[in-house]
Amino acid sequence: MGLLVNTAFGLYCPQADVYLDPWKPVNKAIISHGHADHARWGSVSYLCTTSAAPVIKYRLGDINLETMAFGEEKRINGVSFSFHPAGHILGSAQIRVSYKGEVLVFSGDYKIINDGFSEPFESVKCHTFITESTFGLPIYHWTDQKIVFNEIEEWCLNNKSNGYLSVLYAYSLGKAQRILQGMAECAGPFYTHNTIEAVLKVIRNQGISLKNTIQVNENLTRADLLNGVIIAPPAAQNSNWLNKFGPLRQGVVSGWMALRGARRRRNADKGFVLSDHADWEGLNDAIAMTGAENVLVTHGYTDILSRWLQEKGLNALPLETNFEGDEVL
Ligand SMILES: [Zn+2]
Repeated sequence: MGLLVNTAFGLYCPQADVYLDPWKPVNKAIISHGHADHARWGSVSYLCTTSAAPVIKYRLGDINLETMAFGEEKRINGVSFSFHPAGHILGSAQIRVSYKGEVLVFSGDYKIINDGFSEPFESVKCHTFITESTFGLPIYHWTDQKIVFNEIEEWCLNNKSNGYLSVLYAYSLGKAQRILQGMAECAGPFYTHNTIEAVLKVIRNQGISLKNTIQVNENLTRADLLNGVIIAPPAAQNSNWLNKFGPLRQGVVSGWMALRGARRRRNADKGFVLSDHADWEGLNDAIAMTGAENVLVTHGYTDILSRWLQEKGLNALPLETNFEGDEVL
């Protein structure tokens, strides 16, 4: 990779002595976004985007955190680092690294569809692109998000008319905000599990406006909840926090719902295919737009995507990393 080497601690830039999204505690960590497999606890100092910082602080506690706006440049021992929107979740960044004319971009997690909430993806020209491949198979082709939101809203209405509460399970950082902002105002009130509400509070406190939500509490009645939709994290699915409110229907919102059998394995009534990652076409478009000759493929279908890129004439190789993915299967 030249500028970066893969180590037991993560991707390392020896010239600047920094790590990108390290999976073990290091001295200096540059962080692409706040998901747990990218922003890990224990490093001495962190650098992330201004808009990702509040959630990262909320999750990692009292850390030594420096921030930088998108497009701003920081030089460390002659190496230039900058953040560029990855369109994955609020504040998520691709990390551009350049030194003596050589440019490398580490994608982090990304999607090129504009969700109307996260800073929209921006393509960055580079010689080497390190791309994720969470959904790097041709079978992954996302339906237009407007159609998915219509499906979700129809499902909720249908549940209501049949006397069932609607519960949507979505990752608390990213997907929950996307659902809240993507659904029509009239589909509310929007009720939340406390884990989701806590993240929303952090985001509101940084001055970003979100639709109104009501945390599920004991004073609410079944009739209240029946009127709107409940948003909860996947981990709440097997707990009994909603038992006292009576019959409900469970929907899971995840890119993995595109896989046959995924809904059944999750024990859900309905699966909605909506992802904060690029689909096959999105990955290919993003890679082509960088103009990179060298592509390193991390996390996901690394072998398949890198072989496909090799056939198209690129220098592509899988790159072993410890990213675990933020979408729950
Ligand atoms: Zn992520």
